Amino acid sequence: MNIILLGAPGSGKGTQAEKLVTNQGFIQFSTGDVMRKEIEENTVLGKECKKYIDQGNLVPDVLVNQMVESYLVNTRSDNLIFDGYPRTLAQAKALDEMLKKLGKGIDKVFYIQVSDEVIIDRISNRLVCPMCKRSYNLVGRPPKTPGICDYDGTKLVRRSDDEPAKVIIRLKEYEKNTKPLVEYYHSIEKVIKIPGHDSDANVAYQQILESLK
Ligand code: AMP
Repeated sequence: MNIILLGAPGSGKGTQAEKLVTNQGFIQFSTGDVMRKEIEENTVLGKECKKYIDQGNLVPDVLVNQMVESYLVNTRSDNLIFDGYPRTLAQAKALDEMLKKLGKGIDKVFYIQVSDEVIIDRISNRLVCPMCKRSYNLVGRPPKTPGICDYDGTKLVRRSDDEPAKVIIRLKEYEKNTKPLVEYYHSIEKVIKIPGHDSDANVAYQQILESLK
């Protein structure tokens, strides 16, 4: 089964993906994580992505779609969670085509709904592990040792695009480009709405599990 996690930045897609990977055997594919790795390794693709990410803007479809296609062709695995992709209508259509060529498809789309106030509050308290990519919330989900990842002991960092001015741009990008995808997938009857405002991520997770049965 292949699923999409759709939702604004800070809606909890990464946290839900982490739970589904650990407990349900899914494989997470986060385009944001792939891009941050490319940036870390200072590749040509990374340098190009950085220009957009640093401004809070979306990376152009053509670059993202190429990245996704090469991942899909190389892994050929099922049980994928698409986290942060697709983010535009053009990406959603490209994904449909790519999966069709591989004889696969999307089985479910989970739309995690959270208000802008909760998102801004969450992102301003977010720290991430640059090694394992897990994210923490200083209020709702703090690390056991302040500033240190529980799983691998790496020093936690703040994402450069989590600063308030960038978050506002990212939310605008989301409203304009990504939210219309709810309607797109709704038209093919795949969207399951998950309230994501509870600070306990297990609340949303249990609802996702229920819908996966
Ligand atoms: P994320 O980790 O999903 O929050 O993504 C961080 C940033 O990476 C976004 O704000 C975009 O600049 C870029 N990005 C990640 N995924 C995509 C995508 N599917 N399309 C365009 N840009 C993306």
